[in-house]
Amino acid sequence: MKKSQSATHKTTERKRQWISENISDCCVLCGYNKCQRALELHHTKETPFLIRKKGRQRSGLSSMPWQDIYDDAPHMVVLCSNCHREVHEGMHPEIPVPEHTTSGDRQKGRPPFGYKWQDGEIVVNPKTITHRKRMNELYKQGLGWSAIARKLNEEGILTQTGIVSGWFPTTVMRVIEPRYSKVKR
Ligand SMILES: [Zn+2]
Ligand SMILES: [Zn+2]
Repeated sequence: MKKSQSATHKTTERKRQWISENISDCCVLCGYNKCQRALELHHTKETPFLIRKKGRQRSGLSSMPWQDIYDDAPHMVVLCSNCHREVHEGMHPEIPVPEHTTSGDRQKGRPPFGYKWQDGEIVVNPKTITHRKRMNELYKQGLGWSAIARKLNEEGILTQTGIVSGWFPTTVMRVIEPRYSKVKR
């Protein structure tokens, strides 16, 4: 019993390591990274893993098979436990919450970076669309997510939620990478 528990523990640590190297090593919203155990994975899309897990209490890394971690990596973000609760409360609409984990109409909210609500529709926001275009250009020039995030923070460009120095590699990625950047919802 003891032996298998510590083996599970080791595997969980290896998963944690993989996630911090391949997804993010800090909360995508606030950058928190002091305690690895306070960092959680959040699914931005319903995946076969989530569907299988539906209705079951047990969650967390230890019960997530490696294959699902690899498969779901593009649909997961790292959040600290506080921000994670906020996301599920609908306070960060730029981070999607799969339908079944929300209770109704929390999906409506802030449009993607470079856009805004107008008369019930998402339209281009002239104030931020230029930043969005520039981010795409920098990316085409070969800059990585981190380099772009640093640049935006240095230049004092606010995030969609108006956070100063709030750009992180994954926030940049979600703006640039078409499969994360949902302009229509
Ligand atoms: Zn979540
Ligand atoms: Zn956070």
